[in-house]
Amino acid sequence: PNLFQPERINSKGFDLRHAPTLSAIDEARAPFRSATWDAVPLIAGEAMPETRVAVTNPSDLSEIGSVAQSSAEDVELALASASTWDAPAEMRAAALNKAADLYEANYGELFALLAREAGKTQMDAVAELREAVDFLRYYAARIPDAAPAGIFTCISPWNFPLAIFTGQVSAALATGNAVLAKPADQTPLVAFRAVELMHEAGVPREVLQFLPGRGSKVGAAITGDARVGGVAFTGSTATAMRIRAAMADNCAPGTPLIAETGGLNAMIVDSTALPEQAVQAVIESAFQSAGQRCSALRCLYLQEDVAEGVLTMLKGAMEVLDLGDPWALSIDSGPVIDEGSRAKILAHIDQARSEGRVLKEMQAPQGGTFVGPTLIQIDGISDLQEEIFGPVLHVATFKSRQLDDVIDAINATGYGLTFGLQTRIDDRVQHVCDRIHAGNIYVNRNQIGAIVGSQPFGGEGLSGTGPKAGGPHYLARFCAPDRQQSTE
Ligand code: GLU
Repeated sequence: PNLFQPERINSKGFDLRHAPTLSAIDEARAPFRSATWDAVPLIAGEAMPETRVAVTNPSDLSEIGSVAQSSAEDVELALASASTWDAPAEMRAAALNKAADLYEANYGELFALLAREAGKTQMDAVAELREAVDFLRYYAARIPDAAPAGIFTCISPWNFPLAIFTGQVSAALATGNAVLAKPADQTPLVAFRAVELMHEAGVPREVLQFLPGRGSKVGAAITGDARVGGVAFTGSTATAMRIRAAMADNCAPGTPLIAETGGLNAMIVDSTALPEQAVQAVIESAFQSAGQRCSALRCLYLQEDVAEGVLTMLKGAMEVLDLGDPWALSIDSGPVIDEGSRAKILAHIDQARSEGRVLKEMQAPQGGTFVGPTLIQIDGISDLQEEIFGPVLHVATFKSRQLDDVIDAINATGYGLTFGLQTRIDDRVQHVCDRIHAGNIYVNRNQIGAIVGSQPFGGEGLSGTGPKAGGPHYLARFCAPDRQQSTE
């Protein structure tokens, strides 16, 4: 096989160890250091939005722009004027590829938005732009010969406001759907620019419409409507359940819901694991992106014999993490997304502290919505009632003979998104991978940062419906079921 087929080529991204690259990034971002943006609904017709809401930078709570919330009239107009994309597949692919080029050409502004609106470090911003571009090119290269589902609603999360937003929208567009895109409340600005760039690339305005607004209003209106032919949603399991119920009441039976939801992701480190490698993988998986990935590690299981040594190293590694405004390259981790999120995480830490279970707690900088990386001792994953979406890692120990019980306990949570294993025993890799229920399994490395095309991403059980994003089966789900015909 030709390994260099276009669909196998991922964006190269930027090498942050290369000084000239860093200077170029600084120069490209500079004009956007104190710029502001004002997002508005983009619909096929004149929008009559409701009040403007301020958008703030979580690193210092300064205002970086505003978003005009879509009114009920805007939503109705968008639904009524939505049009599927009847252009031939090659033309759709060309526009999506052009959008990828425009994203790359506008990287300075997009990096600035990712840092200032979503608190992304430079490393995270590079990875996010790369993933967004990969989605555009990957889906453009494999458009199935099938009819679109109709109007596709795409509702994306704030933790990947460019990549997941673009992934959902580009999949729905590649397959010729009319798209109604609702960004997360916290991150409408970068999504607004993404839609502008897609329009500039040739996606018609009546095909791709942008409807910022509250989930309870706009989200509810564009999921519970008989005209909707499908929904792609990434966010909490509870919201996915509400969407499913609204669709069941209003949409035709069989209307697809593609949901990527929460997780209670675990990693098992046995006594044969290389401690340095395990600690590095744990730090990245639990604390990079301030722990705000649904792939992030929440519960670390250490084999008893090595627990003390690994924990000592882990605490040391936590101490050198640099927290702050992620505009600076030296920052390892930025703020959590907003005050509500911080309050929830801090309440969880306070509870653990009152029970004497906090093993290590780093100081958080003042000013923004920062939370210091925290390590909490638990007996096992069943102690965790819900996903804490932040830089909080729980740790439990196990004896060698308890390995299968640990796997069963992880499976018993009902979630199944990512899972990590650190071991140097080949048979154990096979055994654990056969038994664990998780969409993405990572061995002897970190468990975040799935790459489009190589590591299709998605979970099972409470973690999502599948098919996996960035994988060969994703697009088929955006097509009319009766004429589904994948080219795979
Ligand atoms: N795809 C991302 C990763 O592999 C996670 C996506 C999410 O957090 O929703 O880290």
